[in-house]
Amino acid sequence: MQDLPYYSLKHRDYTIEGYSRGAVQTYWRIPEFHLGFDLGAQPWSFMGTPNWIVSHSHMDHLAALPQYVTRRRMMKMTPPTIYLPSEAKVPAEQLLFQWQRLDRGRLPCTLVPIDPGMEIAISRNVLVKTFAAKHSIDAMSFIVYQVKTKLKPEYLDLPGEQIRDLRLSGADITYEVQTPLVAYTGDSRPEVLTSHPDFLSAQVLIAEMTFISLEHPLATIHKFGHSDLADFVSLKDQFKNEVVIASHFSTRYSEKQIERQVDKYLPGRLNGRLKLFM
Ligand SMILES: [Zn+2]
Ligand SMILES: [Zn+2]
Repeated sequence: MQDLPYYSLKHRDYTIEGYSRGAVQTYWRIPEFHLGFDLGAQPWSFMGTPNWIVSHSHMDHLAALPQYVTRRRMMKMTPPTIYLPSEAKVPAEQLLFQWQRLDRGRLPCTLVPIDPGMEIAISRNVLVKTFAAKHSIDAMSFIVYQVKTKLKPEYLDLPGEQIRDLRLSGADITYEVQTPLVAYTGDSRPEVLTSHPDFLSAQVLIAEMTFISLEHPLATIHKFGHSDLADFVSLKDQFKNEVVIASHFSTRYSEKQIERQVDKYLPGRLNGRLKLFM
């Protein structure tokens, strides 16, 4: 059963699934990381993902919160953890409280307030860092890191027994490596892409491209707190990502119009790395 549309892209050993149209609905998840971004709607098949991070409280990124929580309860899954902007926590609690009255069912979940500059440990080896986005309301962008613990080079040649003894003695013989896997801009002006080098070097970048240079001047688009195809053209030589997913297109554009305009201004689509999720 597919109740809501979404794309699915397998990259390396994980999958990016999601869909986003400005003012309509936005939802993304990486099932292998047990992690999703934004709850603008919730495809039935997404409910197994237990951790969600919400970029901002615009309706098209948050409206499915009660639906998601109630589905997990109905299906006897553990209560989910939802990270959301700190200023949205109390209104979201009140909303869930009112929905409990309307739906006559409990809505068990943990709401965790987050702000820019934080690190969220989703699991032992998946870490998410939060960044300030530039949008019309407070919003965040995120980068997902794989965390690996490695043996310091000076211990590499030691036999396993000796390493075990050193470990047991409490010696500090390892170091941590963080690899940026997936960056997600949420809704933002393009500045966020250059606010930290990992946005343009994460293996996968999921970026909003709400407008495609057809009717508004760039200054107006940036004032709305959004990005335009023209911003991607300016940055085209800086993307080191293996895959760039552009999405959150305005509903005023048809799929054909988006493709035509992107191929006109970014011929070759960043050597085939640019994917359009429309
Ligand atoms: Zn949006
Ligand atoms: Zn928004």
